[in-house]
Amino acid sequence: MSNNKYKLLIVEDDRSIRCFVQTILEASGYQVLTAERCQQGLLMLRSHVPDLVILDLGLPDIDGEVFIRTAREAGNAVPILVLSARLDERDKISALDLGANDYIVKPFGTGELLARVRAALRTARCKNATGNTGHIFVQGDLVIDYDRRQVRVDGVCIHTTQTEYNILALLSQHVGKVMTYSAIIQAVWGTMDDGSTKKLQVNMANIRRKLGCRPGDNRFFVNELGVGYRMLDAE
Ligand code: CA
Repeated sequence: MSNNKYKLLIVEDDRSIRCFVQTILEASGYQVLTAERCQQGLLMLRSHVPDLVILDLGLPDIDGEVFIRTAREAGNAVPILVLSARLDERDKISALDLGANDYIVKPFGTGELLARVRAALRTARCKNATGNTGHIFVQGDLVIDYDRRQVRVDGVCIHTTQTEYNILALLSQHVGKVMTYSAIIQAVWGTMDDGSTKKLQVNMANIRRKLGCRPGDNRFFVNELGVGYRMLDAE
């Protein structure tokens, strides 16, 4: 399938990384635009309306986080994939909480980059297709019926607690995006305290068990260690 209809914007000042990403994406049939600075990137975001942005956080003029904040405050929902050389978890977490969809830590491979790009584009497409009328989430064997607040795996109803259901529904409504621990906790419990992350992990372990996931089985979602959880979307 040709990806020609997708226009991707890379905002990255490091020439070698920018060219590497551009080459990979163009070889896969995407149209690629590039910017070296944050301001230039924001201008191109407005004028070229890309389908996806690949954004470096450490830019020479303004921090990449400003790009995310500016785009989101303007109501722009373009999927943003953050490229980060930073090892600090807090940078990734704050980029995600500002509204980035996903992140890739440098150095990364071709396969990983393309998989993340496809996932982000797919998620955006699903959202556009369903809008607010989607009452059911389907991912392989897993079905979440939002009207009935019901979860089914392989046609069998799974008994979940209210909290477990709320977590699952939240993750599914942000499918493909990494939801940070604090974002999930704020949405589900409203407040955050010392025991919140532990409480979330216990609930996630119960959800995994109820959905029939064995340890290490990332069928429905993955735990991005130290950052949050991501519901996977169906291939
Ligand atoms: Ca940089």
